[in-house]
Amino acid sequence: MNRRRILVVEDEQDIAELVALHLSDLCDEVVVAADGHEGLRLATSQDWALICLDLRLPGPDGLEICRAVRRERAYQPILMLTSKSAELDRVLGLETGADDYLTKPFSVLELVARVRAILRRVDNLQKAPSPEPDTSAIVAGEVTIDPSRREVLLDGEHVDLTAREFDLLEHFARNPGRVFRRADLLDKVWGYGHEGYEHTVNSHINRLRAKIERDPSHPEKIVTVWGVGYKFSSEARV
Ligand code: CA
Repeated sequence: MNRRRILVVEDEQDIAELVALHLSDLCDEVVVAADGHEGLRLATSQDWALICLDLRLPGPDGLEICRAVRRERAYQPILMLTSKSAELDRVLGLETGADDYLTKPFSVLELVARVRAILRRVDNLQKAPSPEPDTSAIVAGEVTIDPSRREVLLDGEHVDLTAREFDLLEHFARNPGRVFRRADLLDKVWGYGHEGYEHTVNSHINRLRAKIERDPSHPEKIVTVWGVGYKFSSEARV
């Protein structure tokens, strides 16, 4: 069995120690990188169950590291730490591909809850394909989703999705026409209830649209239901 390791890239020593201490209960080993150079090297050269990535770092920053990791491993879970909500907005605007975000100062309880949820998802992916039902391919218009290979085809062409984008799309496609509130999606796809993170959903929806919609500014697959949330429409285009 693989040892489960978490990489923490954080230059503030007291935060790094606190995070490492609490995450050490959730895995076999926590490795701390104290600057962007070391973080980038470790993040891209070794396997990690999770990378916990500070945004502001000496050397390459969290965004650069996130992008570099994504180029190599679309499914690497990444939790981004930012110091204030203005920074978080910037991160979301840049659409880095982080799976989740925490704004400093964060509570240790919240950190642990997020990391647990991410690791649980990874565990579920690694388990042997559970009793048949959920592994059959979903065909929704021009989108084909293969849950067993975690692959998405758009008009027969492979689409690169992050783990979270895939989960989100699969959740929508399994429930065509059903309207989900952002809080529902956080609960079902991210795996924990929380308030104030609805913009995380918006950001992932925007990224997903950019990848699967013909015209992301006029989405036809993941449709906004004003004042409520989103729904998936597989109806054929005219
Ligand atoms: Ca920092």
